[in-house]
Amino acid sequence: MPPTRTKPNAQVRARHVPQRTCVACRRTGDQRTFVRLVRTADGGVAVDERGRAPGRGAYLCRAVACWERGAKGALNAALRVTLNDTDRAAIAAYGAQFWSAPPEARDAGESGNA
Ligand SMILES: [Zn+2]
Repeated sequence: MPPTRTKPNAQVRARHVPQRTCVACRRTGDQRTFVRLVRTADGGVAVDERGRAPGRGAYLCRAVACWERGAKGALNAALRVTLNDTDRAAIAAYGAQFWSAPPEARDAGESGNA
């Protein structure tokens, strides 16, 4: 009498959520919580809003502190580029639109405007 064969559940496929790491603070998380930057052909860095540009990429949190840190050197290391002053200013300016502080710090300092 032949044994009953059952298919082994070898690999239960987990839903894959792309995880990314901020090159400034090393936080990891969902790709959507980061902004991607790519190395450009001329050795600079460009913000890749859609996250699909070809080439070496790096991620930064949507927090101005991380962009400042990125401009100061974290992006240089991650993308193997040497940012000039123009690149740094552009990156810092782009990052300025994001939170000036982590979310937990934002609530504390808020005061009424009345
Ligand atoms: Zn970060």
